[in-house]
Amino acid sequence: MSIADRPPQKVEEPQSPGPLQQQLEQQRLVMEVTQKIRRSLNVTDILQTTVEEVRQFLQTDRVIILQFDDHWQGNIVVESVGAEWMAILSAHIHDPCFGINYIQPFKQGMVTAKTNIYDTKLSPCHLSLLERFQVKANLVVPLLHGEDLWGLLISHHCSAPREWQPREIDLLRQLAAQISIALQQSTLFAQGQREIAQRKEVEFALQKLNAELEQRVAERTTELMQVNDRLLETLLDQQHTQVILQEQAQLLDLAHDMVMTHDLQDIITFWNQGAEYMYGWTKAEAVGQKTHRLLQTKFPQPLAEIKAQLHSQGYWEGELRHTCRDGVTITVDSRWVMQKDQLGKPIKVLEINNNISDRKQAEADLQRQMIQKQLLWNITQSVRQSLDIHDILATAVKEVHHTLQVDRASVYKFNPDWSGDFVVESVSPGWVKLVDSNIVQFCQDTYLQETQGGRFQTHENFVVHDIYSMGLQSCHIDLLEQFQARSCAVAPIFSGDILWGLLAIYQNSHPRSWQSWEVSLLEQISSQLAIAIQQSQLYAKLQIELQERSLAETMSRESERRWRLLFESTNLAVISIDTKGTIEAANPFFLRLMGYAENKVIGKNWFRLFFPPQQTLEQAKLFQTHLQKTSYPSTQSQILTKTGEEKVFNWNSTLLRNAKGAVIGVTVIGEDVTERQAVEKLKDEFISIVSHELRTPLTSIRGSLGLLMAGVMDDDPEAMKRMIEIAAIDTERLVRLVNDILDLEKLEMGRISLIREWCNAADLVHRSMKVMTSSAQATGVILEVETPSVQIWVAPDRIIQTFTNLLSNAIKFSTTGGVVALRGEIIDEVILETKSDQNRLNQTIPQRLLSKHILFSVKDYGRGIPEDKLESIFGRFQQVDASDSRDQGGTGLGLAICRSIAQQHGGQIWVESAWGEGSTFFLALPLA
Ligand code: ADP
Repeated sequence: MSIADRPPQKVEEPQSPGPLQQQLEQQRLVMEVTQKIRRSLNVTDILQTTVEEVRQFLQTDRVIILQFDDHWQGNIVVESVGAEWMAILSAHIHDPCFGINYIQPFKQGMVTAKTNIYDTKLSPCHLSLLERFQVKANLVVPLLHGEDLWGLLISHHCSAPREWQPREIDLLRQLAAQISIALQQSTLFAQGQREIAQRKEVEFALQKLNAELEQRVAERTTELMQVNDRLLETLLDQQHTQVILQEQAQLLDLAHDMVMTHDLQDIITFWNQGAEYMYGWTKAEAVGQKTHRLLQTKFPQPLAEIKAQLHSQGYWEGELRHTCRDGVTITVDSRWVMQKDQLGKPIKVLEINNNISDRKQAEADLQRQMIQKQLLWNITQSVRQSLDIHDILATAVKEVHHTLQVDRASVYKFNPDWSGDFVVESVSPGWVKLVDSNIVQFCQDTYLQETQGGRFQTHENFVVHDIYSMGLQSCHIDLLEQFQARSCAVAPIFSGDILWGLLAIYQNSHPRSWQSWEVSLLEQISSQLAIAIQQSQLYAKLQIELQERSLAETMSRESERRWRLLFESTNLAVISIDTKGTIEAANPFFLRLMGYAENKVIGKNWFRLFFPPQQTLEQAKLFQTHLQKTSYPSTQSQILTKTGEEKVFNWNSTLLRNAKGAVIGVTVIGEDVTERQAVEKLKDEFISIVSHELRTPLTSIRGSLGLLMAGVMDDDPEAMKRMIEIAAIDTERLVRLVNDILDLEKLEMGRISLIREWCNAADLVHRSMKVMTSSAQATGVILEVETPSVQIWVAPDRIIQTFTNLLSNAIKFSTTGGVVALRGEIIDEVILETKSDQNRLNQTIPQRLLSKHILFSVKDYGRGIPEDKLESIFGRFQQVDASDSRDQGGTGLGLAICRSIAQQHGGQIWVESAWGEGSTFFLALPLA
């Protein structure tokens, strides 16, 4: 397969965490490698850590470091590779294409990032090299050693092509810089090691030479002394003796080391050239002086002890501190030998001193470096282990206080107005405390406030050896005196580019000449603290962000939960529609009421689905007009259910806006007021009818009473009696009317609970007949009865009330001699034959009626009822003819009461009639 045939591959972009976390992680990684470099001088270790950490951070398949040899051939020195990919460690890469042309760009820091090796114009040999290593994408960063190109840090992505992110490239660059430091450090270290070794060799040789010389000098001295003694003793040749003495002095002079002799009172008797060179005094100046006064000798032990040893053993050796003529103090390795005369009596002391100040200095330097390293290491550890900035600062000042042996180490933090507070300190016992004390309030550092941090802004330190000899302003001296400081060194702490605070050390008991390494150490600690501060600020920011996010999520969940609860359980219609009128949500109550399933509503047009077609356009236009305004008015409209039933709603609407404030739709909340409106209408009608029905008899009564009062009929007792009868009849009618109204009201409101019992149907029918017998006889109507004797579960009084009302009507509307028949029969099922049955069933027929029941009928042969009144006469005050109530003395409520009773028994009542031929009223009651 040629390269061109390869299928396009997906470019991987690894899942990225939040930017803050990335920044933290990147900083952690750079820190990790930096610390590794500080901790270790082993380059391979550092490189190995680097490739492993980098692979982990980039989530890539292989990371290697390549080192160039003198012929620009690369050797892979470390590698971190995923288990599923080929390991290429120790491979010797001979890339013939890596021409000399690449060296210069890499030296100048060129970085190459290839997303897909097939998309880049690579030379075939380079491509085949990468293919051999399974590489799909690579990122190459140069590693410099000083000015030279040392090698390359290479990341291979093998699973797929990959888009390298700028932050990833940036990270590799930072790490490459750290590695370069490590390389240089390691070279310096090796060089240092070599130098130390060389120095040791030289020192060893010198010591050896010294010992030999010493031996020789001692032997020679003894020899010379003996010769001298002999000469003196024999007094043979004065001249010769002079020559020998001169020779001896010349020899001693020639000795490289300092050689002197002093008598037992410490008076210098001999002072060689080495001594002149070492201490600066000439022989003439030194001889005759008291040695320890001249050299201000500092002994490691009391002089008396030294002398005692010298006398007993004839020899002493130890380190002394001497002050030279120019005031410089030196350390010498001193050897004293007691000179004795022939009788063994001590006469003088030979002292040979070797200047070891440099070695001492080197030792002290080494010691200091170790302390410095240890201090930095401790602080770095605390930065790594804690994110609590207070802890870190406290550890830092404690370490500094202890290590540099100062009286106080503290951290001062600036406030936004450039005032500030000491936030932590470590102070030796006996000195005032600056943290949480009000000293600083008394004595504001106005210089820092006025200059917004002053010299520290430009990264300068403030080092004072003695506050009284630096020409400080008096207010500044006052301030430092408040701190009890005699000497101080202060370094700024920066958080990014911002001056955060100061790290300060104080010597209170005496002036102190701060060493440059101490100041530089202070600076390094400040940088470490800066990292810690930044890290902790990032962490705190992250914490706040997380808390805010979680709070917002909780609140949004709670608000969603409440809204959902309301949406689902309210007995109000809730609908959301967008600006085009499309329904986005509708709550269960609304869907139930309108008879729709949710999926038949969502996504449909609100106006088309629910409004009568003739209103759709107008409503949609009105909606658009309302959307333009800031608020949406309350409205009332009629909408249609799925079955076409009209429902009246009062709407309250709220405009929905997006985050930018633009209207994105409307949520409407509607109350179904259909029934309330119907009830209102009925009530109005009822009041007008009742007032009419009451007013008519009252007018008649008032008329009769008026005539009687006026005495118009005083002379006509018969007429008067008729008048009183009319008034009495109308009064009865009023009473009946009021009773009926109350009765019906109670029945319908359910305030009368039916007391049911098992009754015999025939018995109830006969009792009703009995009630009506006299009235039937009065009008000459014949009553007939035929009922099965069957037990029914009813309220007997109410059933008798129903029968008597139906019989009363039948009698009223029958002519004299007519027949009225009350029958009962048991029916197993309803036979739907007549039209009125059909109508009734279409309306509301209880399911129970379809089962077994008893059907009563009251039949008359009177005038009948027109077809259009068959249903309405069961309503309140409904009559076939307006005169019916007056003529027949009815109230127009009888049939309404009958229907209510029937319904409360779970039964039905209706009428069949033909105009002029009579009517049959049916009452069906369920059986068991
Ligand atoms: P009323 O007290 O007026 O009889 P009802 O409610 O009992 O009140 O009757 C209502 C109306 O129905 C009567 O006024 C009458 O017009 C008509 N009606 C009732 N029964 C009959 C019947 N058997 N024959 C003809 N019309 C009747």
